[in-house]
Amino acid sequence: MRFVTFFDADGRSRPGVLDGEAIAVIDCATLRDFIALTQRERTGQISSRHVSSKVRLDAPVRPARNVICVGRNYLEHAREGARALGRELKIPDVPAFFTKATNAIAAPDTSLHLQERISREYDYEAELAVVIGTRCKDVRQKEWREVVFGYTCLNDITARDLQRAHGQWFKGKSLDETCPIGPWILPAAEIGDPGNLEIRFLLNGVEKQHDTTAHMIFPVSRIIAEASRGMTLEPGDVIATGTPAGVGFARTPPEFLADGDEMAVEIEGIGTLRNQVRIV
Ligand code: MG
Repeated sequence: MRFVTFFDADGRSRPGVLDGEAIAVIDCATLRDFIALTQRERTGQISSRHVSSKVRLDAPVRPARNVICVGRNYLEHAREGARALGRELKIPDVPAFFTKATNAIAAPDTSLHLQERISREYDYEAELAVVIGTRCKDVRQKEWREVVFGYTCLNDITARDLQRAHGQWFKGKSLDETCPIGPWILPAAEIGDPGNLEIRFLLNGVEKQHDTTAHMIFPVSRIIAEASRGMTLEPGDVIATGTPAGVGFARTPPEFLADGDEMAVEIEGIGTLRNQVRIV
């Protein structure tokens, strides 16, 4: 099952379930509203009305608040980052959380308009994203599965110059159209173990990142346990779980996104999130 948000003939965004050449329409205003229902209630909301799957997709879910992100969560990426910045590698005891503002969220298969006057150092980060399915707090690590709705692909595009200049990462991570997600959400049950998926990033068809989620420093279970400690998570919240080694700024010489670049985030069992870069 693949949960999507699509634009109907009137240009309104609607939630649905991809079913081969068709999409079964979900009778909720948004996929976030659907996710907030109980399992039993959800079943009743998937209608028998179908539309062609040849429609434009929106981001599958738009969370009510910032995307929760984990920084430096793959050892090789933490190492390349420390090297590029001339710092000592330190493995933290807890995940390094930061957030991306909701204005950054963008749809799959779209051109992302990145403003040259704001940054000259746009960089890609392929990430597995977790979509929370149940309001929860203080989730025990062994009970993490109960609160996950599903998984999708995310590209944590970052303005490296702003990330450095502002000290705190929020600004350099939150520019408009720098958080494409999708193309759909795979239900948690269909993924099974999110801790053993191949993840790749391709730039114009050339592989730049390639790792497995088995190499996360903090696995999804621990990320959920730590994020929910004393902090309520809501249905539709999105958690980006960090990126593998191979990002542009840590390359020699550094590489940044250019006008016309074709980006693809590929995650085993989920699919491929594609976007084009438009430098404006
Ligand atoms: Mg990231």
